[in-house]
Amino acid sequence: MLQRCVCLIVVLMCALLATGAFAVEPVAAAAIETRVDLSFPEVDGLQVLVGDFHIHTVNSDGSVTSSKRVLEAYRYGFDVIAITDHGKTRAYRSARSMADALGIVLIQGFETGLAKNEHLVVLGISEDHQPRDAHRWAETPDASEAYYRDELKTISDTGAVVIYAHPHCGFREPIEWGIAEGIIQGIEVKNDVVASGWNTVASHGTHCYPFAFDWALENNLAVFANSDIHGPRNQASYPATLVFAQERSADSVMDAIRACRTVAWFNGMLWGPEKLLGSLMDACVTVRQASVSAEENYLAIRNRAPLSLKAVI
Ligand SMILES: [Zn+2]
Repeated sequence: MLQRCVCLIVVLMCALLATGAFAVEPVAAAAIETRVDLSFPEVDGLQVLVGDFHIHTVNSDGSVTSSKRVLEAYRYGFDVIAITDHGKTRAYRSARSMADALGIVLIQGFETGLAKNEHLVVLGISEDHQPRDAHRWAETPDASEAYYRDELKTISDTGAVVIYAHPHCGFREPIEWGIAEGIIQGIEVKNDVVASGWNTVASHGTHCYPFAFDWALENNLAVFANSDIHGPRNQASYPATLVFAQERSADSVMDAIRACRTVAWFNGMLWGPEKLLGSLMDACVTVRQASVSAEENYLAIRNRAPLSLKAVI
C-alpha cells in the first residue's frame, strides 16, 4: 500500500519566505508589494514550478475575478495556475494579460464531469473547444445529454489532458475507460475544498486520497494537490502541485504532466514517484563534513528548498 510503493518525505512545515518589493509593469505595481518565495533549485536540468491546477472564478461559482486569481498566484509564490470554471473557459482570455505581465504561466482549462458522479478537470484545452453539458455527461450513448466517451475523445483530440478531481466516486467504469484510452492522465490526491468530506481518508494528519496515490502509481497518472479554491486566497499554505518542466511555459508544463513529472505538496508533505522525490532531495539538500576532531565529527547540512525538512538519522 502507501508505504510499500512510495517515498513519502515528511516535512514539518513550509518555510514561506517573503521577499522584498518587486516592481512590475504594466499592471498596478502599487498593489503588488511582496511575493512569497517558493523557488526550488533545478532538478536534473528541469525547473520545479509551483502550481495550482484547480481554481474557480466569478465565471462559475467562485467569488474572485480571473485577473485577481493571477495576482493571488503571484503574491503567494505560484508559478503556474489553471483556472477551471465549471463548463466555461472564458476566464483564460481575461486573465492572460495579467499573467503575461507577472510571469505566471496560465493554463486554459475547465471543470466538467458525469451527472452526479465524477468531476473531471480539463487542462490545456484549445480556445475553440465549447464544453457541453458540464457535470451532466451521460453514461450511455442514447441519452439526451452528451455521452462521456464522445466528450472525452473530443477533448483529447484537442491535445488537452484530463485529471480526475477529488476522486470520491472511486474507480468506476468511466474512469477506467478514460485511463485505458490515455485521456485521463492525472488524479488529485489532495483537494483543499472537500476537506474531510467526499470520501477522503484521514492520513498523515490530514484528509486526502491515499488510495488515489496508489492508483496513480499503478496506472501511470500524474499526481496533483490542488486548492479547488472558490473564495479569496488569503494565506500561503494551500496545497500545491510541483511540476518538473523543461522551461517556464504552458507547453512544457503540459509535457511534464503527460510524463507524470509532478509531486503533490500539502500539509508539509511531498507525495510523488520515488525516483522524482529522490532527485528533488538530491538537488535541495547538500551535506558536507564541517570539521573533524579525535572526539567529534560535524556535518553541515544545507536545505535549498522552500520547506522545512526533518532529517532522521
Ligand atoms: Zn472545482
